[in-house]
Amino acid sequence: MAKVSKRQVRKAVKTISKAPKGVVFVCYLLVVVLALGYFLYTNFFVKKGGEDYLVYSNVEGEISFHFLTLGNSTPGDCTLVQVGDNDILIDAGSDEDSLDDVKSYLSDKVTDGVLEYVIVTHSDMDHIACFQVDGGIFDSYECEVIIDFPKSTHSETSGSYKDYLEKRNAEILAGAEHYNALDCYKNTNGAKRVYELSPYVDMEILYNYYYDHSATKNNNNSVCLLFNHEGRKFLFTGDLEHNGEDDLVRENDIGKVCLYKAGHHGSITSSSKTLLDEIRPDFCIFQTAVGTDKYTSDTANQMPAQKVCDEIKKHTDRVYATSIADREFNGDVEIADLNGNIVVVSKLDRITVYCSNNATKLKDTNWYKERRITTLS
Ligand SMILES: [Zn+2]
Repeated sequence: MAKVSKRQVRKAVKTISKAPKGVVFVCYLLVVVLALGYFLYTNFFVKKGGEDYLVYSNVEGEISFHFLTLGNSTPGDCTLVQVGDNDILIDAGSDEDSLDDVKSYLSDKVTDGVLEYVIVTHSDMDHIACFQVDGGIFDSYECEVIIDFPKSTHSETSGSYKDYLEKRNAEILAGAEHYNALDCYKNTNGAKRVYELSPYVDMEILYNYYYDHSATKNNNNSVCLLFNHEGRKFLFTGDLEHNGEDDLVRENDIGKVCLYKAGHHGSITSSSKTLLDEIRPDFCIFQTAVGTDKYTSDTANQMPAQKVCDEIKKHTDRVYATSIADREFNGDVEIADLNGNIVVVSKLDRITVYCSNNATKLKDTNWYKERRITTLS
């Protein structure tokens, strides 16, 4: 766009001041009407979105976590973490048809086409769907460092895990550094346990017993991560289940966390009392389709399970969930936003949760009131 010189501005002002008073009045009136229209539109018609926050002692630096809705009723994970110029993608589920939603969100946020870190917690489809598909993340972004799981119970020679390995290996051939979480934990083969993302924020790969021991359930192979922002902690455990969580607590010095991305989408298999008593979260995010009957018809065990809700509410009621799949609360629509895309920002004296749909706490939703017992036993 051509630059407007001071002389041109002065000339324009002179021209307007020379204009008949009626024209000037109409111009002013137009500006006032437009401003009033904008105010009314943004304050009374655009009501989507909401936020919540907690105040902490002041810190320098900033980190944000973006928990994405994934466009279907299959629970799955996909979280973008941003620290300065570092874009970190944790998983890319939940199914191949999530790709449009994921790419659309990333195109707004990752404008240089580079993901500095890609973390793949484990090899289940609801975490690798958008990596293994043609035109997926590895095909669309330059990935600088890929950290994934040392073990998988899936076959390397067939299905989506084979496709994942092919796409990942092509990205490594194209120049990406690749480490598994065990090498990270042990600081071996060029991998690091702690990655400094800024002078104020780092990302630590925690030790999971199943990095170097066989698991019967693939969920237990999950890479576990702790982000630390000047003492504020943010925990990601993939789909790690109870026995893995108990080991995680024993083997690592986690302590209280500000945010817990609930393990295994709020399944009854995860978020053990041992883990929650250790981490005592201030905020909890369920990246799931609340009330999905995909895995069980028992409403008490549908995600997030009653038992999980009970354990979490001992520590916090700041619980949010991306989507809802329970038809009774959702009409004929198969999937809808609950809180929607959830962005958690740690900055200055507070942690703020921004929700694209609304910031209604899970306990205050109609689904919770109908499907979960609200009082502590
Ligand atoms: Zn999962």
